[in-house]
Amino acid sequence: MKNFYDVIIVGSGVAGLNCALNLPQDKRALIICKGLPDESDSYLAQGGICCLMDESDYNSYFNDTMAAGHGENDPAAVECMIRSSKRTIEKLIGLGVQFNRDANGNLAVTREGGHSANRICYHEDTTGKEITTRLMERVTALPNVEICPDVCMLDIISRGNCCYGIVARAAGKTSLIFADYTVFACGGIGGVFKRSTNFRLLTGDGVAIALKRGVKVKNVNYVQVHPTTLYTSATEGRCFLISESVRGEGAVLRDKNFCRFTDELQPRDVVTAAIYRKMEEDGTDFVWLDMRGIGREEILAHFPQIVAKCGEEGYDVFTECIPVVPAQHYFMGGVQSDLNGRTTMSRLYAVGETACNGVHGKNRLASNSLLESIIFAGRAAEDIAANYVPADRAESKTAADMLDLTPYEQPEKLMEEYKRTILKAIEEANRE
Ligand SMILES: Cc1cc2nc3c(=O)[nH]c(=O)nc-3n(C[C@H](O)[C@H](O)[C@H](O)COP(=O)(O)OP(=O)(O)OC[C@H]3O[C@@H](n4cnc5c(N)ncnc54)[C@H](O)[C@@H]3O)c2cc1C
Repeated sequence: MKNFYDVIIVGSGVAGLNCALNLPQDKRALIICKGLPDESDSYLAQGGICCLMDESDYNSYFNDTMAAGHGENDPAAVECMIRSSKRTIEKLIGLGVQFNRDANGNLAVTREGGHSANRICYHEDTTGKEITTRLMERVTALPNVEICPDVCMLDIISRGNCCYGIVARAAGKTSLIFADYTVFACGGIGGVFKRSTNFRLLTGDGVAIALKRGVKVKNVNYVQVHPTTLYTSATEGRCFLISESVRGEGAVLRDKNFCRFTDELQPRDVVTAAIYRKMEEDGTDFVWLDMRGIGREEILAHFPQIVAKCGEEGYDVFTECIPVVPAQHYFMGGVQSDLNGRTTMSRLYAVGETACNGVHGKNRLASNSLLESIIFAGRAAEDIAANYVPADRAESKTAADMLDLTPYEQPEKLMEEYKRTILKAIEEANRE
């Protein structure tokens, strides 16, 4: 790792990778990630990635996204995402991503809650792993991109509302890494919650640093809870997701008496609320999910990972119901960004789950996030390339000289402080 790059990308999920992939090859880029490169939520995505397969579905897809977001979405962002979706899927296929296909060789499409049509492309129940692996292969082969795992961004180097790089911690040492442009692709905030489907290391550091450095953050209290994660007696740690497409394919929810109690294909927040109400009424810690109506062949072909995980926990999805409980899942809020990923700080971009560009409004429609992350990260890279101006070296040196490096020598303490910053911001926003 050097101490100067043209572009630093913080995060190795689909957003960070697709940003790197779309930078011109004469730009030297560094990707860092907090843990191992595959410890990102992008690897965990199960259900799939949305696509406007046919023009006749445009209005319906647009309306479903807006309805799930309670109308608080930015229509221009939604339109941009939907209009770019087919091209994006084609590009992914061109990069070697394998999606499931029907008997005629056409892309197979499924649906999840909140979708009024089948429009989700998938690779079994490991779509995220398939996409991220292929993107990683391509990025690793790039001569201009360096990927450094186990490097944690602790702060940015900034002055006069301009970002000049990051403060990083690796192998017990703090270093300043300068860049003409810095891109936050740091994922979500699940790690600040006790129960979440996210990797524990995803603690919203980009958001906390933005709050600390006066970069605008939006909708910080818009946190999505997924209705169905596998219930286990562990009270902390990463919860295993039971993808919504299981319900899309016919699984139903049942209460303690094994009776259905809600329409399983409503948007996530509505189904979650129904489950919480039922758990309270019944005095239970979970409700049941019944996959038996789907059919053995379909379950095996579409959900092998879920079958295996439930098996490990002692449940046979073919013959019995499995216990499920809601858990924190996705962050609709984030560092405010425009459709090119620009934040309110010059030379600082935000993409993927860290960013809030208005696509999701108050509640994300299932399978829109991989798509959104990939599209807007690509746009950010194009924007950087199209408007590239080297940073003022004297200014960046002054910004670095003004940093007090003492707090970075206790990174764990700083990270705890960042977690508290986020929880406090959520609490305050909820009170407003
Ligand atoms: C279980 C699960 C299932 C999902 N299923 C779907 C689905 O089917 N369809 C869909 O569209 N979406 C799904 N999602 C959501 C989707 O996966 C994410 O929103 C998306 O992958 C986010 O991508 P990202 O690149 O922004 O962040 P991530 O993929 O989470 O990557 C974040 C990166 O930032 C790095 N990072 C964070 N902080 C720092 C720091 N301080 N310093 C250095 N590096 C840092 C991390 O190490 C990581 O590399 C799912 C999410 C989960 C958890």
